[in-house]
Amino acid sequence: MDYLKVHCFHCGGKFELYSRNMNHDDKPPVCPHCLAGMNKTQWRRLIDAYYTISEVNKDFRKYHQDRAEPLFQVEMKNHYVKPEKIVLDDQI
Ligand SMILES: [Zn+2]
Repeated sequence: MDYLKVHCFHCGGKFELYSRNMNHDDKPPVCPHCLAGMNKTQWRRLIDAYYTISEVNKDFRKYHQDRAEPLFQVEMKNHYVKPEKIVLDDQI
């Protein structure tokens, strides 16, 4: 079961988005904790990215089953770091 975990930096809360709620016709989601809304263009791009990764994983499973190819499953994670907190190589 693929789903997305969204971190809302407006309130610090997190929530999940499941495929049943990932349609281009749906309104962009709002954070269930603080009701901050997501930009409509970003929402559409997120849906596209979600279905692309979901389809790649599905094909990995299919090719593993049909052709005995190695099985991979990809999950994307993100840890946001404020730009001013990033230490550059030449500062070490
Ligand atoms: Zn929020």
